[in-house]
Amino acid sequence: MEQDITKIIPKFLKEKLEKQYGEEISKKIIEGYTKKRKVTLRVNTLKSSVEKIEEELRKNGIEYEKVKWSKEAFIIKNVREKEIQALEIYEKGEIYLQSLSSMLPPIILNPKEGKDILDMAAAPGGKTTQIAALVNNKANITACEINNIRVERLKYNLEKQGAKCVYVMQVDSRKIDDFFSFDQILLDAPCSGSGTLKLENGKINENFTEKLIQKSTKSQMALLRKAIKILKPGQEMVYSTCSILQEENENIVKNVLAPGKVEITPINFQEKEELPLLPTKIEETLCVCPNNEYEGFFIAKIKKVK
Ligand code: SAM
Repeated sequence: MEQDITKIIPKFLKEKLEKQYGEEISKKIIEGYTKKRKVTLRVNTLKSSVEKIEEELRKNGIEYEKVKWSKEAFIIKNVREKEIQALEIYEKGEIYLQSLSSMLPPIILNPKEGKDILDMAAAPGGKTTQIAALVNNKANITACEINNIRVERLKYNLEKQGAKCVYVMQVDSRKIDDFFSFDQILLDAPCSGSGTLKLENGKINENFTEKLIQKSTKSQMALLRKAIKILKPGQEMVYSTCSILQEENENIVKNVLAPGKVEITPINFQEKEELPLLPTKIEETLCVCPNNEYEGFFIAKIKKVK
């Protein structure tokens, strides 16, 4: 007998989704939670090339699809993570297992060589290593992480991926000294994870509670305020979460916007039509709908005008 998935979703989440998106889109989101996501990976151009990885995958009988918006992104068709992790190219850090949605914030940040770049919530380092690859190790990246266990994971991944231009700080990023300033900032904020929920074995992640959402919004607000403070005037930052709830996304961003001082920068992403997008309350921000290829994700680009 088929399970009624709407009964597994916590009542508060169903209500929030329906209030924000209406019944039809909420149904699509909830359906997205039930999908087994395809394995996806990013080619680490610091250690390898797209051509070499294609050859290695073919040699190992691994079928893949390419993604239109990034030549480094691959969708794996016939094996799971375990089989990828057994490959030499994985062991050597030539590829990184990363969800497609989570590759978007660094691409949208568009990091530049020679700049001072801050990653405010960095572990385990998927986006930090991607930024390092995008600038070909030729920028000064500061990667901050509050959690001492996760900071070790971050260091391990940086080493494995050959990201040599990264300085790691174990710190509460809300307390970074205002004396510092950066040309580009990524704030991939801690969140409830409402975009990545999985409805498996008739259960949903027990840690997903209303309290977690409240705790996340508090920390997101403080982190974003700090980011704006230490971003150099005239420069841009990216705020992202793997949540699709307005209270963790648009509401947080709206709080720091001030015409003439802090403004939204339209996201210039050519292949938007390739993404399963949800409506957002701030024009020119992106919210990705969870499905069998993408995690739910929110991305805003913000400019500190002065
Ligand atoms: N950007 C990471 C990546 O792509 O691999 C994922 C980051 S995860 C969404 C958020 C991270 O922020 C967690 O590792 C968490 O421990 C860390 N964090 C939470 N609060 C923080 C704070 N106040 N300062 C620094 N890091 C924090």
